[in-house]
Amino acid sequence: DILCIGDLDVDLFISLPAIPGFDQKVSGKHLGQKPGGMSANAAVAMTRLGRPARLLAAVGDDHAGEEALKQLAAVGVDTGFIAVRPGSKTFMCVILVSPSGEKSLIRLETDAYLPRPGDIIPAVLRGIKHMHLTYGNAALTLHALEMANEHGIRTSLDLEPPDIRRAPEHLTRMLGLVDTLFLNSEAFDAASEVLGGVLSTNLLRPGGEIIVTMGAAGCRRLFGNDLIEVPGFKVDAVDTTGAGDCFAGAYLASRRTDADPRDALIFANAAAALATLDFGAQAALPERGAVETLLRD
Ligand code: ADP
Repeated sequence: DILCIGDLDVDLFISLPAIPGFDQKVSGKHLGQKPGGMSANAAVAMTRLGRPARLLAAVGDDHAGEEALKQLAAVGVDTGFIAVRPGSKTFMCVILVSPSGEKSLIRLETDAYLPRPGDIIPAVLRGIKHMHLTYGNAALTLHALEMANEHGIRTSLDLEPPDIRRAPEHLTRMLGLVDTLFLNSEAFDAASEVLGGVLSTNLLRPGGEIIVTMGAAGCRRLFGNDLIEVPGFKVDAVDTTGAGDCFAGAYLASRRTDADPRDALIFANAAAALATLDFGAQAALPERGAVETLLRD
């Protein structure tokens, strides 16, 4: 009953002693090739946690796309509406990992990077109670949010700092169509700066909430003048790629069962902490049982 709309990619992880300049060579080690993309990660997180999600994204008609669809379907994500673009390549990210675990990202965006507004046909919305969007571009995001509002579907949007800086003129209009806004601390500051004041829930749909993630420090929820802050779980993080996507997926999966917002924040912190324990955005996305064990111990 949750529809995720946005990006799907294939992440190629390479470990390197240092990043080479132009005309320099360096030997790297291939750490693996794994599906990623904010929207796909969130859909996998929800599905693993027992809330099967439908994903609307796009891939090229290449081997990478075929593999990504197979892996998503194997997890139980509804991939039936993912657009396969003839003659296009699947969106890839090359992720360079330093010996101490820092990362540099090279995005190879293609025309199969995102679904198009026209891909949101009425059948995609059938049976859907909640639409979760990772920002892609203003046309897609606004169209999707408007359709959700017309169909009485609740909405959430996960924004990153570059999204906010790329589309400042659309920000207020988008926020007015959103029930739950997810941001990390940097994105919260970027949005406040762009809006020329502190971002508040007044800008969202009535009853809207803002969830700010703060890495290892945990998260907070703003709801009108109400503030809840929940510390993160202490883990030996290996790779935080996708932690924010897992957090959003887990929070929504938990709220769908009408969990108290504080319980949902704790649940999402636990799921996202577990998601940092292995390389790759989707490799370590936990099952519900693993989250419940962490919460009990
Ligand atoms: P993003 O990856 O989008 O920048 P954050 O870094 O804020 O988002 O991480 C999202 C969530 O993942 C956090 O709110 C927290 O629950 C969890 N998380 C991230 N990094 C860690 C960490 N090192 N230890 C424990 N939990 C973490």
